[in-house]
Amino acid sequence: MQDREYTAQARIALRNPEPVIAEFCEHMLEHNAEVSEGPAGPVLRLGHIRAAFSSDGVETLVEVAAPDLEGLYLARMSVASHILEFAGDDPPVIEWTGDGGEIARPPNFQILDVVDCRVLTPHMRRLTLWGENVARFAGLEALHLNLMVQHPEIGEPQWPHVGANGVIAWDRPDLRPLMRKYTVRSVDLAAGTIDIDFVLHADAGPGSGFAQTTAVGDRVGVVGPGGGGLVEADWYLFAGDETALPAIARMLEHLPAGARGKVLLEVADAAEVQPLATAASVEIEWLLRDGEPAGGTTLLIDAIRKTDFPEGDERRYLWAGCEFEAFRAVRSFARQEKRLANTEHLVVSYWRRGAAEAE
Ligand SMILES: Cc1cc2nc3c(=O)[nH]c(=O)nc-3n(C[C@H](O)[C@H](O)[C@H](O)COP(=O)(O)OP(=O)(O)OC[C@H]3O[C@@H](n4cnc5c(N)ncnc54)[C@H](O)[C@@H]3O)c2cc1C
Repeated sequence: MQDREYTAQARIALRNPEPVIAEFCEHMLEHNAEVSEGPAGPVLRLGHIRAAFSSDGVETLVEVAAPDLEGLYLARMSVASHILEFAGDDPPVIEWTGDGGEIARPPNFQILDVVDCRVLTPHMRRLTLWGENVARFAGLEALHLNLMVQHPEIGEPQWPHVGANGVIAWDRPDLRPLMRKYTVRSVDLAAGTIDIDFVLHADAGPGSGFAQTTAVGDRVGVVGPGGGGLVEADWYLFAGDETALPAIARMLEHLPAGARGKVLLEVADAAEVQPLATAASVEIEWLLRDGEPAGGTTLLIDAIRKTDFPEGDERRYLWAGCEFEAFRAVRSFARQEKRLANTEHLVVSYWRRGAAEAE
């Protein structure tokens, strides 16, 4: 049974509240929230988090509730940041009262120490990071994190804090760190460390540059975990380029002995091939670009097309992570051609050729 509920309230002077709240509700529906009409206005539910809107005729009242402080932080931040965005040129002042006043830094933020760096292959570098709370990243449902790459002009790193409006704030917003998504390759609970495997790619962006230059003793801010989880199936097809190699390697390590499947991994050349461990019966095929540019081949989709998917009662699952064009081809194959149900596939764009990751 839940011990207690944390709640926070804000009175917001919105000049034209109806369209702003409607846009927020619509946006949250896309993120799988449930929206219902409460006694005084709309009520949104997402997991165990709730937000209820009402009006006193002058101001909009919003109350958020969650089973823990982290949930309350996420609820306050989500409501405030979207209202500020949807209110456009006339952003209102938002100030939360109630629980959560003690949240000075985002609860899903932590600072980790770089304790080891090593070369895995010519284009893959592993960083081992130590922190007091890496247990958050244990389990496949905690597969990814956001890594903060500090601005080169800043001597001391900038860490985020939480403003009175519940939204992340920076001392120097113009020089705030850039966020890049990475996979937690492994977690060592006894040592208190996680590993992240970074692709050192051509056209190095902040993430790749950070991985190349960072050294033991550096500190790095991370936010997370996010996403992840692997649907239970009898037969799996994992497909990805080197950016998804850490995720696929970690998922393979979690597969039970009875599972079967195939793994298709696209990498630059034979020097990028890594040993992969799994108890499952999987066939592993390495697809080598051998001089072709990353994100510029059809190797993955061609190999996926040649794969026999089981038909009948066997539960099958396609997981793919790759460059945007390959992602589009694989997703369209999965949905239009193979007609896989939503529960039978997850295809994700991990990066886009020629475009830096959006902030
Ligand atoms: C959920 C998730 C998990 C991920 N996990 C990992 C991981 O564990 N390890 C990892 O290395 N990456 C991972 N990625 C991919 C990584 O976030 C992107 O490659 C990101 O663009 C790297 O940031 P950057 O600052 O180096 O480059 P950006 O500033 O984003 O881009 C700069 C330039 O580099 C190009 N570029 C970006 N990535 C590549 C690449 N791999 N090869 C060639 N050119 C590239 C861009 O097209 C752009 O032209 C993951 C992505 C997602 C969404």
